[in-house]
Amino acid sequence: MTEGKNLIPVFDGHNDVIGRYFKAGITYDFFQRNEAAIAHIDLPRAKEGGFVGGFFATYAGEKPKKRAKKRDWSEYATEKGYSVPLPKPLKQGDAAEQINAQMAKLFQIERESAGGLKITRTTSEIETCIQNGTLAAILHIEGVEAIDTNLNALEVYYQAGLRSLGPVWSRANAFAEGVPFAFPVSPDTGPGLTDAGKALVKACNQLGVMIDLSHLNEAGFWDVAKLSNAPLVATHSNVHAICPSTRNLTDKQLDAIKESDGMVGLNFAVGFLREDGGNDVDTPMTLLVRHIDYLVERLGIDRVGFGSDFDGATMPAELNEVSKVQNLVEALRKAGYDDEALRKIAHQNWLRVLRKTWKAE
Ligand code: ZN
Repeated sequence: MTEGKNLIPVFDGHNDVIGRYFKAGITYDFFQRNEAAIAHIDLPRAKEGGFVGGFFATYAGEKPKKRAKKRDWSEYATEKGYSVPLPKPLKQGDAAEQINAQMAKLFQIERESAGGLKITRTTSEIETCIQNGTLAAILHIEGVEAIDTNLNALEVYYQAGLRSLGPVWSRANAFAEGVPFAFPVSPDTGPGLTDAGKALVKACNQLGVMIDLSHLNEAGFWDVAKLSNAPLVATHSNVHAICPSTRNLTDKQLDAIKESDGMVGLNFAVGFLREDGGNDVDTPMTLLVRHIDYLVERLGIDRVGFGSDFDGATMPAELNEVSKVQNLVEALRKAGYDDEALRKIAHQNWLRVLRKTWKAE
C-alpha cells in the first residue's frame, strides 16, 4: 500500500491485462503509466488506485487473422436487446499456443518487475504481497481449450502456478458450454458439463484449483454445484434481476452460492450492469452500488467482492482505469458501507474464499 494514503486495498476477481498485450496493434509498457484508452491496468496506476492484486486471466480466442472483424453486438440486435451466436470451438493446440504465450508474458513481467509483481500460489503469499506493496497476481485460465481431456496439461499448469480456471469462456469446448452473449435472456442456454468436464471439477477439487462459474450456462453451473466440494464462485458476474444478461446470475444461483459459502465478484462492464443492457460509458456509480446492495442482501457481506473485467470490457467513465477504483469504494462508503464492510468487499472476502478453496495457505 502507498504510505500515508488512506486507501482501502482492492483485490480483484478478474482482469484481462495479459490478453490486452496480445490484442492486434496494442503495445505498451506495464511498468509505465499509460492512457486509459491503451490499457486499464499498469503498475503505476495500480499503485495509485490501491489495487493490490487479483486474478489475471489468460484467454485463447480466434487468431486475429481469422477474426473477420471486431465483434459488434449491434449487428445482433433483437427487438429488446441483442443475441450473439456462440463462437466456433478452438483446437487444443491453437489454444495452448496462445495460453502458453500469455503465461510466459506474465512470468516475464514478474521477473522484470524486480519485486513489483508476484504470481501468488498461496493466501499467505497474497497477504505478504499486500503488506509489501507487491502486486499479487493469481494465474487464471478463462476457457480451458488448452487443457487436454486427460488433464495432463492441468497438472503442468498447476505446477507452473495455475490456481484458478473457468471451464469455459463463451464458446463450447470439450468440458462444458458457455452462455452466448444475449440480452434480455436467461443463462439457461444449453447443455451442462461433459464427462470430461465432470472429471475436471473433481481434479480441480483435488489439486485445490478454484473453479470460476462466470460464463458457464445454467446447466453447467448446477453440475458444478452438485459435484464440487469447494465454495461456488463467480469471479465477474452481476445480478440478473437488475440486468437480465445471460452473463449474470439468477436469484436461484445466488442462493446456491450463499449455501456453499462462496462469493460473487462485481463485474464493472456496463453491458452487465445496465437495466437496458447498453454499451454506454455514461453509467453511474449508483448502479454498481445497486448491484452490490442486492448481492449483499442476498449473499451476506462476507460473500461479495469486485471482479472488474478491466482490460476486457467497456467500463463506466468514472471507473475506466485501475487508478480510479477507489471511486467505487467511495461510492459504497457514501451509500453507508463502513470501513469493516468495505475491507471485506474490497479484498478480505477473496482471501476468505481462497483459504477455503486452495490446498496450501
Ligand atoms: Zn470474462
